[in-house]
Amino acid sequence: MKRRTNSLRKVYCDYCGRETEYVDSKVIYGKSYGKIYLCRNCMAYVGVHKATDKPLGRLANAELRNWKKAAHAVFDPLWKYGRFRGHRNAAYAWLAQKMGLPVEKTHIGMFDVGQCRKAIEIIEKETKGDRYGRYQKDPR
Ligand SMILES: [Zn+2]
Repeated sequence: MKRRTNSLRKVYCDYCGRETEYVDSKVIYGKSYGKIYLCRNCMAYVGVHKATDKPLGRLANAELRNWKKAAHAVFDPLWKYGRFRGHRNAAYAWLAQKMGLPVEKTHIGMFDVGQCRKAIEIIEKETKGDRYGRYQKDPR
């Protein structure tokens, strides 16, 4: 079934390879947060950069969304309160170096499951002694 779309861009699902639909995010959230590219086959989706039709990264299914949440849970405290406080780019530059990735490819939004897991592992290991860098689920 072909749907009308306002996007000139063709974005294909990262999981099944089908062409995605360009729809309002309210189909997912019940409230509009802008447009998304959605694969109904996998229920995978990705948002767009503000005022553009450019996807924010790869499409994420439920599994990847959970891993990205987990990665943000350990990464965000680094630049919100921790050793990179107020310097999100510096935190990403540090992570890029540790992961051996180019800095422009080092964004949790672009990560796949394996990269999320690797990032979490690195952050947990490297920030063990930090007061705020510690993994949030660590009870100590
Ligand atoms: Zn798909």
